[in-house]
Amino acid sequence: MTNSQFEYVRKFELPDMCLPNCWPIVRIDGKNFHKFSHKHEFEKPNDARALKLMSRAAQEVMNGMVDVVLAYGQSDEYSFVFKKSTTSFNRRASKLSSLVVSQFASAYVFHWKSFFPDKELLYPPAFDARTVLYPSDKNLRDYLSWRQVDCHINNLQNTTFWALVHSGLTPTDAQERLKGTLASDKNEILFAQFGINYNNLEQIFRKGTVVIRDKKKPQTFQPAATAGEAKENKRTERGKKQIPTPLLELHVDVIKDEFWKIYPHLLD
Ligand code: ATP
Ligand code: ATP
Ligand code: MG
Ligand code: MG
Ligand code: MG
Ligand code: MG
Repeated sequence: MTNSQFEYVRKFELPDMCLPNCWPIVRIDGKNFHKFSHKHEFEKPNDARALKLMSRAAQEVMNGMVDVVLAYGQSDEYSFVFKKSTTSFNRRASKLSSLVVSQFASAYVFHWKSFFPDKELLYPPAFDARTVLYPSDKNLRDYLSWRQVDCHINNLQNTTFWALVHSGLTPTDAQERLKGTLASDKNEILFAQFGINYNNLEQIFRKGTVVIRDKKKPQTFQPAATAGEAKENKRTERGKKQIPTPLLELHVDVIKDEFWKIYPHLLD
């Protein structure tokens, strides 16, 4: 293409390359999902279908972006951890976040009817995205721990709040009842008043979802074939057919060392 007199405008674009040796993480979050979940009658405190749809969309992102080594999701958010050494899109932060979030949003809408067969999607949801860089493995692990602790705190709060509401309290009264309570108080309300042992609630609600590429146990994965996966099947490297590494969806603790000892390749 020949240069035109207008070409100079490109110089207004600022470079936004992720620093070398850092872990790029893109976090997406649903815009106003308080309203979205209400309008689409999500079960409260936790709608499992909605969480699974989020994870389906996250897998679509991972199928399209092979340098995402791990994704962690809870509520209306998902974090995508790129390989420290990724050269995808020249490490341009805006490219990474915009491609992740647009792929995620379109996949969320595309797969909606598989997870909510009886519920019409009333309007197109939006998600925000940001790229953040973490310079050490400890920072990366602390980031994921931060999100998982957030999942736990919100889930304990929401579970107690909705138990009170479902028992007949108004939302305002339930809010009032929970004002100033500690985690131990909430556990006690759940157990004494509702016979709920918080630790027995489903792991997906308490821990969120981790998606990784399982290099160890490919035989355990039976994915539903999707357009994204089919495309990845055809992807070739030096002319050779590459079998995609299967994705594994887990609801486990990522704070303690155990997870990182089982999957040490994640920190490569
Ligand atoms: P913002 O646009 O600032 O992110 P938001 O309304 O999306 O606003 P968040 O802090 O992101 O606020 O919280 C997401 C809200 O979406 C939760 O508080 C919860 O009400 C709802 N939500 C998300 N996922 C689920 C789910 N699986 N089941 C039930 N409710 C959900
Ligand atoms: P990249 O991911 O780098 O953007 P790309 O394939 O999208 O790759 P572009 O430079 O953005 O490359 O070009 C978009 C291409 O999409 C065009 O070259 C053309 O082939 C096709 N295309 C887009 N819109 C139309 C259209 N309305 N009709 C026919 N072809 C189209
Ligand atoms: Mg928010
Ligand atoms: Mg949100
Ligand atoms: Mg959120
Ligand atoms: Mg294009």
